[in-house]
Amino acid sequence: MSHKNLWDKRAYQQKYYALHREKLIAASKEYHAREMIENPERVRARVRAAKKRYAERHPERVLEQARRTMQRRREKDPVGYLNVARAWRAKNKERVAKYERAKEAKVQADPIKLAARYENRRQYRIKNAAKVRATKSLYKARRRIKSRTADSSCSAVQWMARCALYGWRCAYCWFDLNKMTVQMDHVVPLAKGGSNWPSNLVPACGKCNMRKNARVWIPKLPLLSVGG
Ligand SMILES: [Zn+2]
Repeated sequence: MSHKNLWDKRAYQQKYYALHREKLIAASKEYHAREMIENPERVRARVRAAKKRYAERHPERVLEQARRTMQRRREKDPVGYLNVARAWRAKNKERVAKYERAKEAKVQADPIKLAARYENRRQYRIKNAAKVRATKSLYKARRRIKSRTADSSCSAVQWMARCALYGWRCAYCWFDLNKMTVQMDHVVPLAKGGSNWPSNLVPACGKCNMRKNARVWIPKLPLLSVGG
């Protein structure tokens, strides 16, 4: 079949398609179904390329669609949505950081936004005065303990020696312990001026450690059987 010009060829194709429409659609369907099975990678690559072309041509449509999808998910399952969002952020830390930096730069460059932020924070502090005070004093106490105990420490070897000294028993109830169950207890708690030196550390069971909390208990060295 020869064609005088492009127009003829196109008209012929259109006529051919109209005549064999059903057959052509069926053949195309069959071809794509087979491709999905035989060349899934190629199909995926093609879909990816098509999506990319579409996104380049209509960036605002793609953004709007993504926004709508997220909105729908959030409405349908608020908790699940939060988890998905959290997982995504954990996986795309650098992207999130870049986005946050850009957002922060925008705020810093806009005096109105900056003023609004200060006002919001002021309102929060007024509304949650007790909470803010508690957090502040907690941080202060932590900082004090940290600076006071900065030079005291106990190495892993020293800690093992402390456990051995107590015969791998709880220093308060003599419950048998092992590396998995032992807990490190500060005889004089850090909050009460204790240190991280080995001499202030004893092995304890979880129960005693929890009950003791910030109190000072006198550890009892177990009477280790000598000889036997
Ligand atoms: Zn105990």
